[in-house]
Amino acid sequence: MIPETLEGLALAAGLLGLCVGSFLNVVIHRLPKMMENDWRIQCAELRGEEAIPTEMLSLAKPRSRCPSCGHRISALENIPLISYLLILRGKCSGCGTAISARYPIVEALTGLLSAYAAWHFGPTAQAAGALLLLWALIALSGIDLDTQLLPDSITLPLLWLGLAFNLWTTYCDLPSAVIGAMAGYLALWSVFWLFKLVTGKEGMGYGDFKLLAALGAWLGWQMLPAIILLSSIVGAAVGITLIAAARHGRNIPIPFGPYLAAAGVIALFWGQQITRTYLGMIG
Ligand SMILES: [Zn+2]
Repeated sequence: MIPETLEGLALAAGLLGLCVGSFLNVVIHRLPKMMENDWRIQCAELRGEEAIPTEMLSLAKPRSRCPSCGHRISALENIPLISYLLILRGKCSGCGTAISARYPIVEALTGLLSAYAAWHFGPTAQAAGALLLLWALIALSGIDLDTQLLPDSITLPLLWLGLAFNLWTTYCDLPSAVIGAMAGYLALWSVFWLFKLVTGKEGMGYGDFKLLAALGAWLGWQMLPAIILLSSIVGAAVGITLIAAARHGRNIPIPFGPYLAAAGVIALFWGQQITRTYLGMIG
């Protein structure tokens, strides 16, 4: 493998990642609204009422609009990163309202992680799977930050997909993946009930169990201790900082999904080294 080709691959994956990041912004914004619409229709049906027709919303339609003035986002204004930085300069071209910096951040993050995955794994099935896993984790983190939800429509397919990749021992052998999925779910499920018995509060949601189950399915049970440890350390550090800065009430739930996702990304790229290092320290 000559370096030029690997760098070219990383560049191509990075550009693909920028475009996918643009789509992930739509997923993060619309999927919770689509779920809410579904729930409203189901509740109305249970009450025997006619479901109130709501705005038709899917990931493909309608075209994105400015939330302040309804200005339709043109194709030129929809180029990942470039539009925000150079054409719009962070403002809506219709009304001048500032556009959240989160849009270009999600695009840049998706682009960078995609490029790194291609560079790290080379032209392999591991790289292809890593891209899908990274994209799902970014969408889940964004939705969890906004709504404290980790939609089943992402976490469950992600779990099956991890098992499917490991049919060919892509990241770990199949028994490790199956045990990883079960142990991942049970580990957080146990913490949840222990926490609830001791404090009477619910510290996390079922979505978190499913996300850790999915990470176990991808990376194998051997990675679970590192993922739990990493996400708890980062989560606790951020949580304490937010509480200390008094920007966050003690009882406002802090979403755990983004920390699990971040720990999953670290385990995907460097999990083998981390595991080897701490096993070396123990024995
Ligand atoms: Zn506007």
